[in-house]
Amino acid sequence: MPVISDPEGRLFRMNRVSQISFDNYTPAGDVAVVAICLVMVILLLTSYVSRTRSFRIFANILVSLVIAALVNIVYHALLSNYTLGFRLWIYITRVLYEAMLYGVFFLFALYSIEITGLERRQARFVSVLSTLLFIGVIAIDIIRTLAGTGFRLAEDGSVLRSTNVYLIGYGLFVILLAALLYRVHDRLFRRVMYGVYGTMAVSVLLRFGQLALGSSSLTTMTFVFPVIAMLYIFHSVPYNITLGSVDVHAMEDMVRQMHSRGADFVFLSLLIPEFDQEGKELPAEIRAVVRRYSADFFKGAFLFQIGNGHVVLVVSKHRNPDFEERIQRILASFWKEYQHFQKPFKIVVGESIDEISRKNEYASLIRSVERIMDENTVHRITPEDIDCFNREEYILRELTDICHRRDLEDPRVLAYCQPVFNLKTGRFDTAEALMRLRLEETGLVFPDQFIPIAESHGFIHILTEIILHKTCSAIRRLSDEGFAISRISVNVSVLELKDESFCGDISRIIESNRVPGEKLAIELTESNSEADFMIMQAKIQELRAKGLQFYLDDFGTGYSNMERIMELPFDIIKFDRSMVMASAEDERSEKIVENLAHMFADMEYSVLYEGVETDHDEQRCRGMSASYLQGYKYSRPIPIERLRDFLSKVG
Ligand code: C2E
Ligand code: CA
Ligand code: CA
Repeated sequence: MPVISDPEGRLFRMNRVSQISFDNYTPAGDVAVVAICLVMVILLLTSYVSRTRSFRIFANILVSLVIAALVNIVYHALLSNYTLGFRLWIYITRVLYEAMLYGVFFLFALYSIEITGLERRQARFVSVLSTLLFIGVIAIDIIRTLAGTGFRLAEDGSVLRSTNVYLIGYGLFVILLAALLYRVHDRLFRRVMYGVYGTMAVSVLLRFGQLALGSSSLTTMTFVFPVIAMLYIFHSVPYNITLGSVDVHAMEDMVRQMHSRGADFVFLSLLIPEFDQEGKELPAEIRAVVRRYSADFFKGAFLFQIGNGHVVLVVSKHRNPDFEERIQRILASFWKEYQHFQKPFKIVVGESIDEISRKNEYASLIRSVERIMDENTVHRITPEDIDCFNREEYILRELTDICHRRDLEDPRVLAYCQPVFNLKTGRFDTAEALMRLRLEETGLVFPDQFIPIAESHGFIHILTEIILHKTCSAIRRLSDEGFAISRISVNVSVLELKDESFCGDISRIIESNRVPGEKLAIELTESNSEADFMIMQAKIQELRAKGLQFYLDDFGTGYSNMERIMELPFDIIKFDRSMVMASAEDERSEKIVENLAHMFADMEYSVLYEGVETDHDEQRCRGMSASYLQGYKYSRPIPIERLRDFLSKVG
């Protein structure tokens, strides 16, 4: 009966050199290693994985572990069924097993270097050290065996004791890794590091625990724990299990991969605006449709969720050469589904474009297209969209810079204004401030091109502050020069009111310009949210106390809630140009506008008509309870510095 030992030569039975050994290797541990590694491979194949460098190292570790476990099983099988012919194979499998485990150690070191982004020099030092250790330990072990002082088999296949080079190597590697992890401990999130340390501790404890018990069955297994930690901490991109999607970072990652491989793809984006807000999510029935769509219509497509009500399907063209037909099919089918759930949507379809892939900006491109498209339509991305997007990106960069500088005199933000005719005084004694940007690459930019961007990126308030500041200094100058301007109104977006500091910011700017509050007004548009209403009420009250007036802007463009409007202390109701135009269409419409205006006038509101372009417009408005008139008929918006010229000319 031969003697069984593990490659470390630790486990003995009585043998011819009369040393004690015992046989307690069972292949269960190694079989489990192979099984666990296979499970990990299955999980990786069925999930979205970032194919980063660290992932490639991880994959190599998995392969090494499987080989190690299989080799160890073979080694022990050969030993326990010893015949002379196996001798060489026993030596080979033993060294191979050892090499595989050290290889895993070596890869652990490379992996740590990779994920922590160690500097070049230190990284080189660690990799050289682990390479030397890797080669050194194996070389010493082989040499000792050849020299007859290390692991040897007796004639009958019993194992002759060897000093434990293997264990020394193990110890050195553990020290190296522990030192490395300690060195980089502040580079990763602390909890992540605790996860790594904890896993290592369990592995080392198990390793030495089994040593104390004289077993070797779990040696390979102790290398699996850190690998499980890697999969869990660093490589899992969790699916939203009811939707089948992964997050937006995964999308960027996939774009990067596809771009680097030169692989073309198609993307289909679905936005359901109603649910694309914080705290909302797609309802179960729509989720079910999306989940089905991401699997049924294309081969190997991935679904990414880039907003609460916003998903993007990315489809490889190579795997779906007939993608055009498939797109038509999915759209036709979607349209049928839409008949059931009836929620307004926007669908954007496009193909990969080098320029956008390089910058990895598909999510922004899609959002930029969605901003201007109508609901319940499908838009196919065109080269013009890309130009428009690039322009927007440029504007966004400039806005970001403006916002960071917080310079109230920023020359890129221009205050224009449009004079307003006061019917009571028969003079142009008020005006509306209107914003423009003047940027190097684009020249003059109009509000429709930058206000939505500024609002969605939280830059609108600083722009208001700049306009308010410039308006205040214009008022100051006009007053100093003796022009009788009663007030200028400034547009404020409802979003801004939500900020605690809003009233303070406004007051501070007005006061620092030494302008009385009465000289300013704020224009607000209606909002149909209850929360906005409460906020508006509070803020209007606070600033009215400082003398500011409030205008309700764009009346007649939305679904007006009269009750609400009456509850807010507005001074002037601005009838939108669409009302002026409607009143010209037929008598019935004119009556409606007239009655509305009359009702407001009756309740002590002043009515201002916007967009008065012709004499005819003016006549009608005069007959419809107008207090103020504003429009191209009197003046286009002009730079605020030129208001004095306008006033001198007309006055
Ligand atoms: P709004 O507040 O309704 O401003 C009136 C818009 O109507 C201005 O466009 C003005 O140039 C235009 N308009 C004036 N008279 C006529 C006319 O007779 N006919 C026609 N067809 N249009 C006329 P503008 O300057 O392009 O501003 C567009 C919108 O951008 C504004 O609509 C306002 O909502 C927003 N906006 C402008 N400046 C600011 C600002 O400083 N802050 C904020 N939050 N929004 C601003
Ligand atoms: Ca306005
Ligand atoms: Ca308006």
